[in-house]
This record gives sequence, structure tokens and C-alpha cells, in this order.
Amino acid sequence: MLLKLARRTATEISPRLLAKAGYLWIFKAMRTMRVYRRRAKRGELSPPFLMLALTNACTLRCRGCWIDTGGSPSSLSAEQVDAIIASGRRNKTYYYTLLGGEPLIYPGLWDLLARHGNCYFQIITNGISLDKAAAARIRKLGNVTPLVSIDGMEEQNDARRGPGVFQQVDRGLRNLQQEKILYGIATTVTGANFDEVMSDEYVQHFIDRGAMYLWYYIFRPVGADPAPELCVPAEQVTEMRRRLMQLRRKHPIILIDTYWTAEGQAVCPAALGLSCHIGPRGSIEPCPPLSFARETVDDGDLYETIRGSEFLTGFQKFVTERTRGCVILEHPQALAEYIRSQSAVDYSGRDAVAEIDAGTSRNSHHLPGEEIPEDYWVYRFLKKRLFFGMGAYG
Ligand code: SF4
Repeated sequence: MLLKLARRTATEISPRLLAKAGYLWIFKAMRTMRVYRRRAKRGELSPPFLMLALTNACTLRCRGCWIDTGGSPSSLSAEQVDAIIASGRRNKTYYYTLLGGEPLIYPGLWDLLARHGNCYFQIITNGISLDKAAAARIRKLGNVTPLVSIDGMEEQNDARRGPGVFQQVDRGLRNLQQEKILYGIATTVTGANFDEVMSDEYVQHFIDRGAMYLWYYIFRPVGADPAPELCVPAEQVTEMRRRLMQLRRKHPIILIDTYWTAEGQAVCPAALGLSCHIGPRGSIEPCPPLSFARETVDDGDLYETIRGSEFLTGFQKFVTERTRGCVILEHPQALAEYIRSQSAVDYSGRDAVAEIDAGTSRNSHHLPGEEIPEDYWVYRFLKKRLFFGMGAYG
């Protein structure tokens, strides 16, 4: 697999873009991780990565999405984004995930990316706006890796994302491929699409489209239309782990999960303080599905605010006292009570506390006794040194 992956990387991706990713995404991020680990040892919350929801405006209405796209859209201002990144840089953070809504329709996107040329941006996009012009701009900038959301082949994907979406996004992937851009696919695994998205054919389809990584997420039943029937039962979660390891040995593409350590132990990135989510109204939240906060980016220097946040540090403690997995799935009522007890503001545009409180407790990716360690040295190394946690969770 490794030789094939090296050949793909050398022949399918622009050398300039590879060099930029190597320096800005990998080399600089590993330095950031040293700072994070040092501060974590002191009990200081200093996230090495940040997720910025530039806007909640979107071009799709996917089933089970937690973003409130109704009413007039909210967006971060250019000044707010610059202040976030300035504080980030002072704390050695150079890698930012831009999401939404749909970040490719954010008015100041291209200027933002050009203005911060010494930072690296992963853009989580629904792929609808990936026309030839957008692909050419991404190539020219060089400090961007698109992560395109697709949740199955045509039928499965369009059942959640809308009719015609799969074909339109597939054309977008060809545009990225033609420009030799380093990009990935983000797939949310549900009980419904499980067999399809955890198959050789599915992985091979995106290798043929030039994707270099495939990032698997597990469905969370949140939002106005939580679709709990799409949740992944425990036996499928364990099977997902097994299949991931089989697919990783076979296919020349990096298959990513942010759920398990190299030893197969579950992790919650928010509980580890690996990142915070900045909402489109400037709220500083634990993670994307939890649109609650006590502080905003307008309260002062971002990292000072995060370090001083009782809500965020309290959330870490709240999670680690209960699970290694996801409290949204496992402890919805306790989570709703925690949010109320902290008088956190609900930035969802709905009554999201009531939605969580109405949830049913169920399994997450933390299945004690079912831990399966990585059995392939490549992924043991990546999990320990390079993956999302960059060695944060070993
Ligand atoms: S609370 Fe759940 S969704 Fe949020 S970071 Fe933790 S595992 Fe992920």
C-alpha cells in the first residue's frame, strides 16, 4: 500500500502544493503540538487547532444537519477572523478548519486565504461550488485542502443531501483532480449507509477521483431534525473499526478517524482540548454539534478567553468524568443539565438544550472491552505522530 500511495502522491498532486502542505500543515502543526502538550501538562486549555464556522448560510438542506439555516444568515466578519488568527499565531496555531454552513459561499473567503498565506486551511465543503474557477483559485493559493462531504454513492448520498447532489459534487471532484489539488472526502457513517461506505468499491471510487484522504465521521442525532434512526449501533461501530483496518492495508489513500487511539481507545477531541468551534455569531463552543457558549470572540484575545473559560474547561471535566466517548450520544440528559447549570447561551437559533434533553441515551464509539489496537505499523505511526491528534492521543 505504501509504495502505491507514494506513487500516487508523487504523480497526482502538484509538487508546490505538496511542499506547502508538508511545511504549513505537518511541520508547523507538529510544533504546535509540542506547545499544546506542554500547556496541557500544566492543566491549561490551549487548542492546537480551531474550527471556524465562517457562516451558517448554505446551499443545501441535508437531513440530520444541526446548522440552523433559516432566517437571515450570520457570518464572522473579516476583522473577527483576522483577530482569531492573530491570537492563534501568538499561540503557535497555524492550522484552521473552515466550515459552515457552506464556507465556499462566504463573501471574503479568497481574500482571507490570501491574507493568511503562512497558515494552512482545511475547508469542509458540500462541494456544490467546486467549479473550475474555484479549483484554479485553490491551486493558485496553495495553502488550502478541501474536505468534500459525501455520504454514500448516488442513492445513499442524495437521500440525505438532496437529488442531483452526488453528480454535481462528482464533477467538482474532477475539477480538483485536474488541478492536482491535495483534497479529501468527509463521510458520515450512519446505520443506513454503513455497508456501502465501509466497502472497497466506495474507497476505490474516490481514489479514482484523485482524493488523497477519506475522513470518516460517526453520525450524531442533533438538530431540529435529528434523524435518530440513522445512528450507528454498537455492533456496527466495532465492525467499522475492523473494516477500517482492513481497508487501510489495501488501499493507497489515507483513511482517517478521530475516534480511536493507536491502542483502539476512544477519545473525545473536545474533552482533550484539541480544538474549539467558533460559531458564525462569534461564540466559542466545545465542538460543532454543541452550539453553546459563555464567551465570544469579541470578549478580548481569543486564547486568553479560552484559557479563562469555566464553561470550556468544565466541559472537559464533565466529559472525562463520564466517558471516553461522546456525551451527546451517551449522556444527553446530563449534558443538557450541565449546559443549563453553566447558564451557557444557546447559539443554535432553536431550543437546542430541549432537543438534547429529548435525546435517547445510546452507544457512542466508546465500547469498553471492544478496543481493537491498530495492527498496521503505518497507522500506528500516523495515530501516534501525525493524525488529527498529532500525537495528542498516542
Ligand atoms: S462531544 Fe461528541 S461530537 Fe463533541 S467532540 Fe466530543 S465526541 Fe465529538
